[in-house]
Amino acid sequence: MTPTTTCQAWPGLCDDTDPKHREHTNHQLSGQKTGWPVSVGFVELGDQEPLLYVDAGLAADFAPEDAPKVAAQLRAAADAIEQMQRRVAEVQARRA
Ligand SMILES: [Zn+2]
Repeated sequence: MTPTTTCQAWPGLCDDTDPKHREHTNHQLSGQKTGWPVSVGFVELGDQEPLLYVDAGLAADFAPEDAPKVAAQLRAAADAIEQMQRRVAEVQARRA
């Protein structure tokens, strides 16, 4: 996840650039944007616990020979959610 945010609450996680925003989200890793069979992302809706999500909203049939490509995409999605988890922990540790 690219830390392009100006969000002060969740830097590196939230990508909302409106200075007054209260709901923190990042949907940059949606399947539509990445081409992955799953979407992953970050949501924190105003002073609630931060959440990561994985969403497999689409049926994703694929030919057996595409398995290495799909497996690599799923690993990339898994890496992304672990990266977000580490970032959440970093932000929370800085607040503590
Ligand atoms: Zn934010």
